[in-house]
Amino acid sequence: MIPHPELVGAIFDVLVPPDDHPSATDAGVLRWLDANASTAHADLWREILRPGFDALATEIGPLDETLVRELEHAPSRDGWEVAPRHFVAALVQLAAHSWYGQRNSPSWEAIGYVPGPKRSPGAPVRHTTIPCTPLAKLAASYDVVIVGAGAGGGVAARVLASAGASVLVIDRGRFLTYDEVGRDHLAHHRFPVYGHNTGPEDVTEPRVYAPPGEPERVVGRPYEAEWHNNAMTVGGGTRVYQGMAWRFQPDDFRMASRYGVPDASSLADWPLTYEDLEPYYTRAEWELGVCGDGRAHRVQGRRSDDYPMPPLPDNLEASVLRKGAQALGLTTGPVPLLLNSEPREGRAACVRCGECVGFACPTDAKNGTHNTVIPLAMATGLCTLVTGVRAERVLVDARGRATGVSVIDVGSQARRQIAAGTVIVCAGAIETARLLLASATEADPDGLGNRTGHLGRHLQGHLYVGAFGLFDQLVQDVHGPGVSIATADFTHDLGGEGIGGGVLANECVKVPAIFWHWALAPGTPRWGRAGKQAVRDTYLRTAHIFGPIHEIPKPECRVTLARGVRDAQGNAVARLAGELHPESIRAGRALQARAAEWMHASGATRVWSDPDPVPAKLTAGQHQAGTARMGDDAASSVTDPYGRVHGHRGLWVMDASLHVTNGGVNPVLTTFALAYRCAEELARTGAP
Ligand SMILES: Cc1cc2nc3c(=O)[nH]c(=O)nc-3n(C[C@H](O)[C@H](O)[C@H](O)COP(=O)(O)OP(=O)(O)OC[C@H]3O[C@@H](n4cnc5c(N)ncnc54)[C@H](O)[C@@H]3O)c2cc1C
Ligand code: SF4
Repeated sequence: MIPHPELVGAIFDVLVPPDDHPSATDAGVLRWLDANASTAHADLWREILRPGFDALATEIGPLDETLVRELEHAPSRDGWEVAPRHFVAALVQLAAHSWYGQRNSPSWEAIGYVPGPKRSPGAPVRHTTIPCTPLAKLAASYDVVIVGAGAGGGVAARVLASAGASVLVIDRGRFLTYDEVGRDHLAHHRFPVYGHNTGPEDVTEPRVYAPPGEPERVVGRPYEAEWHNNAMTVGGGTRVYQGMAWRFQPDDFRMASRYGVPDASSLADWPLTYEDLEPYYTRAEWELGVCGDGRAHRVQGRRSDDYPMPPLPDNLEASVLRKGAQALGLTTGPVPLLLNSEPREGRAACVRCGECVGFACPTDAKNGTHNTVIPLAMATGLCTLVTGVRAERVLVDARGRATGVSVIDVGSQARRQIAAGTVIVCAGAIETARLLLASATEADPDGLGNRTGHLGRHLQGHLYVGAFGLFDQLVQDVHGPGVSIATADFTHDLGGEGIGGGVLANECVKVPAIFWHWALAPGTPRWGRAGKQAVRDTYLRTAHIFGPIHEIPKPECRVTLARGVRDAQGNAVARLAGELHPESIRAGRALQARAAEWMHASGATRVWSDPDPVPAKLTAGQHQAGTARMGDDAASSVTDPYGRVHGHRGLWVMDASLHVTNGGVNPVLTTFALAYRCAEELARTGAP
């Protein structure tokens, strides 16, 4: 039970007062606060809210907007243990979370947000389920053990099981149904304020974050930004992603040759070309299922085939932005998306709901590995999936050859070893590096594949930059997924203002809580009658253009094993260090300026940049890559051009860790394509 309930209700009704729509208490804020007081909000109550309300209870005079304004800027006040301004800031945020974030809040209708379907799925909805085998029932050995059932691991399982190998796939997370992923607007992968909706679900696996020039700190909760999570569940990030399915461009594979190597960077060419990967891009697009228009974008590599499905129709924002792009002479096209724009492979089409990125799909129309390639692997009868199990070490013999894995059931804590002819590590760029580092032996004391010190380095992701625009007319129709127009013109053309560049696209439908946090113009009132009115006035009139910068890798951006910090099972956890290269920031500013120009040309009456200023902090969360980079030369890479770990027969990597650079686009289609290529090589050549 929260303390001072009457006082709490009164102050929340100042922050969200009644008008044509309910107040905070009418909308159930007290129930919500009560339900979360000992869980998600416990620290907040202990450190700020309880002492703040105790002090507020002693204030004389009316509890009204005037008092809140006075406290809002006060660093201290007689009788207050906490800074009043911190107390008010926390209250304002909680009030907004409650008002905009609670499921079916009256605010949703008030601002014009609709979560549900906008059209028929065109076929019966069938949600995929996958049988999982308990740890105790596994065989003693398999031809191939794959660690991680995400993007790379799912594709590898599909190729190798189809080639006749007995395959065991191990994932740290569980298979989650649509209902288990849930639709919590305040605890999902796009807005993980009070948790996230996949794994890891517990706080027993911290990470250490060590930005340069600052004391390193232990990050306890996996959903905190500095933990740098992707998603730990069957499907990995693909279970809840947006599914933007860009191919890297030909020059993305030869960044060092095209631009030279900037000081203090580890920019390098890939050991393969776009043409080498092209057939595998096509295979990924057809086997997982991408909708798009293969002729639309001027700047792209040769395609041997179009997409298997047409793009979704434009939404309102796309039609507005297309006019602006035309005025600037930019070429635009739909964003290729890993979703069914029409019924396909027994699953329904996208119903254009308002809860796409960060959530599972209500019609199972979003195509991840969990509902495409992993079921195909299982259908061979040769693939076994075990979940809730973490690989703790890759086992090698005296000559360094992989012989299996040592695993632990994270629930029961049962441990066992499983023998394998080949081990493929696909645990995501951070955990792949951690696992290979933790598998050190006497012969390889710095970890497997780390004889030249590259394992864990070159950690990269994507700096995102863009611009918001406020229009006089409506520009949002809230038709999901939302992202539907892009230009690739700036991927290698920033007019000399930066290396590489990035694609720019409009953004996914913003759930109301995200809109309040992220999309209000600077200076907009954020609480009170004016704050409520501002969100109502601007939600459907705000457009957003946004894009990922082709980051310049650095050796100091790095995963190592933390000294002295261990998980609940006694294993050293990952320590993440480094910050972005100045060239990434320079390109970020340049791309941001292009986004603002596009927004102006589209007719926005007010335009502002985001983020402002462009931050240098590490970006290795959802797009993490690069920690086991491939290369021709063992002296400067961790694997060969097919993912074979140098120096260790039978040990391969097939996830985003292999990326030498990460493109100026979303990376997952490249991870899929690489995994197809590497797994085919393994199937063709056998175990070595
Ligand atoms: C909300 C969200 C939106 C995204 N949107 C896009 C998008 O639109 N386009 C795009 O290109 N990308 C997107 N991504 C990123 C994309 O999902 C990742 O790039 C991709 O999943 C990386 O693939 P991977 O195989 O390297 O790792 P993952 O897919 O992360 O798979 C790694 C798997 O390994 C498991 N694992 C980790 N450690 C262990 C261990 N020790 N033992 C056993 N299992 C382990 C994890 O549980 C996980 O399932 C998004 C991600 C998220 C979360
Ligand atoms: S918008 Fe996304 S989550 Fe919604 S139906 Fe379409 S694919 Fe599924």
